[in-house]
Amino acid sequence: MTTSNAEQFERAQRSIPGGVNSPVRAFRSVGGTPRFLVSARGPYVTDSEGVEYVDLVSSWGPAILGHAHPEVVAAVQDAATRGLSFGATTPAETDLAELVRERIVAGGVHPIEKLRLVSTGTEATMTAIRLARGVTGRDVLIKFAGHYHGHSDSLLAEAGSGLATLALPASAGVPAATAALTIVLPYNELDAVRRVFADRGDEIAAIIVEAAPANMGVVPPRPGYNAALADIAHAHGALLIVDEVLTGFRVGPAGWWGLENAGPLAAELPEEAPHGGTVPGYVPDLVTFGKVIGGGMPLAALGGRADVMDHLAPLGLVYQAGTLSGNPIAVAAGITTLRLADADVYAALDATALTVSTAVSSALEAAGVAHSVQRAGNLFSFTFGSSRAPQNYADVQAQQAYRYAPFFHAMLDGGVSLPPSVYEAWFVSAAHDEAAIERIVAALPGAAAAAASA
Ligand code: PMP
Repeated sequence: MTTSNAEQFERAQRSIPGGVNSPVRAFRSVGGTPRFLVSARGPYVTDSEGVEYVDLVSSWGPAILGHAHPEVVAAVQDAATRGLSFGATTPAETDLAELVRERIVAGGVHPIEKLRLVSTGTEATMTAIRLARGVTGRDVLIKFAGHYHGHSDSLLAEAGSGLATLALPASAGVPAATAALTIVLPYNELDAVRRVFADRGDEIAAIIVEAAPANMGVVPPRPGYNAALADIAHAHGALLIVDEVLTGFRVGPAGWWGLENAGPLAAELPEEAPHGGTVPGYVPDLVTFGKVIGGGMPLAALGGRADVMDHLAPLGLVYQAGTLSGNPIAVAAGITTLRLADADVYAALDATALTVSTAVSSALEAAGVAHSVQRAGNLFSFTFGSSRAPQNYADVQAQQAYRYAPFFHAMLDGGVSLPPSVYEAWFVSAAHDEAAIERIVAALPGAAAAAASA
């Protein structure tokens, strides 16, 4: 017998805060009852009522091969038979570190000289900023409005989608003294960054930036922006931490950095950088990974310059640890996913992203809904109410967000599961085949009409 989503939700709310273990799952901004999922395969997820949806959430990024890829599942099963967790070092962790170092390369440069495995993206960024502070002996951190780097205290100011969905400016419970050490700047402009460095350059440990922001919808960096941030930080003895938790191994085999430094975006960079530095070609000091690197299991990492990474304990004075760090099952899932994610997979992701985003845009246009489509590699999202592409968080927040809820529910009724917030990116997988795309396309006219009449 199946249990309805509504019954499940009622039961969950009695024993779990809000009925969910991560806030955006609660459908707060789109309303209605969250679907309680019981299985997932390829491009589909199935809820507790037995209804199947084409999934454009992809577990918020990890599922680039589609859900439950047979080879990944087999690797997990095989690893599980040999032990669930050792709390000791394993050969496979070194395999993964080597795989990442070799794979992230542009122009002969391998920025990930050393890698440390953790369990979540939150831990990866939290450790990266502690490391930057420990190495520089400075406390101040620069982040950008609308960028999400996980939920550690220093990084929760103006942190994009999750908070925006709930209309929260910042989290309660973050000590004022901690918040005061984080300077939040508007994204995609350099003057504000230069001004802060001119004023307080010798106090700043690091800039942390999403490689291509996708937690306020997708807002790609202006050409040369990340390179300029690297130059400004380095000119003042600060580090650049590039957060590729979401983009790493998803937008391309070497993440966003690969696209910008060796891939198609390298050609788009201005010859003369606005800052007078060398563009293309920037090397971040630290990079954080999550999502795809664990193939759907709890695994994340931080990596970068060996001389910086070697400040981590046991070699250095910056402490970091984890009972489940480098968990053998998660590592097996990650290695297998990365090995399967070859050029064909990225070509499929790119093609599907273009087909789906173009179809959505056409349907909105036919229904007379002003909108813009933002793309960063195979990540994409939409803003409603204007055809002007947003450049920063303020632009994103100025949209007609109310048009998204009816759009979302019409798609859900049509058998398509979208991210339950207008501030999230959409995620395709290499398993989204013609049948899945056809179902998406079939649901679009009704959803666009619902958005138009909102
Ligand atoms: N950084 C970025 C760019 C992210 O998108 C996320 C999660 N969406 C995180 C960090 C935090 O990762 P986790 O949810 O695994 O803690």
